[in-house]
Amino acid sequence: MSRPLVDFTHDPERISWVPGANGHNDFPVQNLPLGIFSSANMDRRAGVAIGDKIVDLRALYESVVSEDARAILEPVAYVKELNSFIARGEHPRIALRHLLFRFLTENPERLIEQTPLDSILIAMKDCTLHLPVRINNYTDFFAGVHHAENAARRRQIPGGQFPNYPYVPIAYHGRASSIRPSGHAMRRPRGQFRIADAPEPVVGPTRKLDFELEFGTWIASGNELGHPIDIRDAHQHIAGYCLSNDLSARDIQVWEAQPLGPFLAKNFGTVVSPWLITPEAIAPFRTARRARGPEEPAVLQYLDDTADAASGGVVVNLEVWLSSRQMRSAEIPATCISATSTRELYWTAAQMIAHHTIGGCDLQPGDLLGSGTISGTVPASGGSMIELTNDGASPVEIGNGELRAFLEDGDEVVFVGRCHRQGFASIGFGECRAVIH
Ligand code: MN
Repeated sequence: MSRPLVDFTHDPERISWVPGANGHNDFPVQNLPLGIFSSANMDRRAGVAIGDKIVDLRALYESVVSEDARAILEPVAYVKELNSFIARGEHPRIALRHLLFRFLTENPERLIEQTPLDSILIAMKDCTLHLPVRINNYTDFFAGVHHAENAARRRQIPGGQFPNYPYVPIAYHGRASSIRPSGHAMRRPRGQFRIADAPEPVVGPTRKLDFELEFGTWIASGNELGHPIDIRDAHQHIAGYCLSNDLSARDIQVWEAQPLGPFLAKNFGTVVSPWLITPEAIAPFRTARRARGPEEPAVLQYLDDTADAASGGVVVNLEVWLSSRQMRSAEIPATCISATSTRELYWTAAQMIAHHTIGGCDLQPGDLLGSGTISGTVPASGGSMIELTNDGASPVEIGNGELRAFLEDGDEVVFVGRCHRQGFASIGFGECRAVIH
C-alpha cells in the first residue's frame, strides 16, 4: 500500500528564498499547508503558507509559463473552498506540493515570467483566513485514552476505564454549522443546568465553560452510502490535519446528557486552525499506533492493519496557552497551562474512518473528525479545564496571579501544535485561537 513517503520536499537542508521562511516555527518550505484566504482587495481563494506569507494559487496559476504547472494548479486556481480539490485524493495534492516546493526553493523565474513576486506572495497579516473547506459533517471521537480514564474515574466506573473502550472507537455526531476558524470570538452559551443537588435546574449562561484540546482529521474523498472504507484504504481518504478546540459547557453537559450524548453543551462553537496540514507534511513524524498492554484485548480485525499499526500514529507536541483580558491589557504574556501530545491517542485516524463507515455511513470531502480531548497522564497535561482543575476544585494560576477554575469572559485560549524529529525541519499547525465574550 502507498503511504506518504519522505522525499526531497522533506530535506532539511533545502531553503526557500522567501525571507523568514527558513526555520519558521510553523511554515518552513517543508510544510506547505493549504488554506483559503481573502484580503481587503482580494476575494476568497486558495493559498499555501510559507513563513509569514501566503502563495496566492490563483495569481500563481495566471503567471506560470509551463503547461504542466498550469495543469497542476488548474483544479485549485479558482476555488473558494478546498472540497473539490481534496476530493481528488493524494496525486494532485502531491503534485501541487512538489511544484510549490520547487517554486519556493529554486529560481522562481523558471516557473513564472514577467510577474512581480509580490503579486503572488501575500503577507499573511494582511489576510483573513477562512475555514479551508465547507464542513458538511463533524464527528467527535473519544480517542484520548487518559481523558477517557479521567471521565471514567469521575463516573466511578469499576476498573477505571469504560469496558467498551478497547473495542469501540467511541464517538458522537457533532455540529458542523458552528465551526469557525482561529480567532473567532465565541459567545458564552446559555442553557439549563442544575447547581449541586438543587431540585430544579436553572437557565442562564454556563458557569463551567471549558476548552477541549483536540487533533482534527479532514476527510479527502468520501465513500458511497452502504460501502464501508476498509482500514487498508483509509489513508487515501485523509486530506490533512488541524488543531481543534471543541468548546464545551460542563454544567449543561452533565444535566442534559442523561441518557443521550452531548447536545447544547457542545453545539455552540468549535474553533479550528485554518491551515490544512497535509499527510505529506506529516510523513516524517509518523509513529506506530499506540501499543496495547497485556491486560487489554487484541484490536478487532476490521480495525487492524499491519501498515496502520506500524505508522498510523503521528507525534504532534501540543500546548495550551491562556490569557485573560486583564493580562492582555497589562501586556502580560499568555501562560502555558498544559502540554501533551497526540501520542496519547488510543485510535489512529484510519481506525476512526474504518469504524465510522463499517455500518455504511458515507463520509464526504471536507468532513471533520475530531480526536476527542487529548490529555496526558499528569494533571498539568490535561486537555481541558475540568481535568486541569479537577472539575474546578483546584483552580490553576495564570500569569498575573488570577485563578481559573473554568474559562471566564475575555479569556483567550490558544492551542499550539508542533512536530519535531532529529534530522528533519520542524513544522507547526499555526494558531488555533478562541476568545470568549
Ligand atoms: Mn470533544
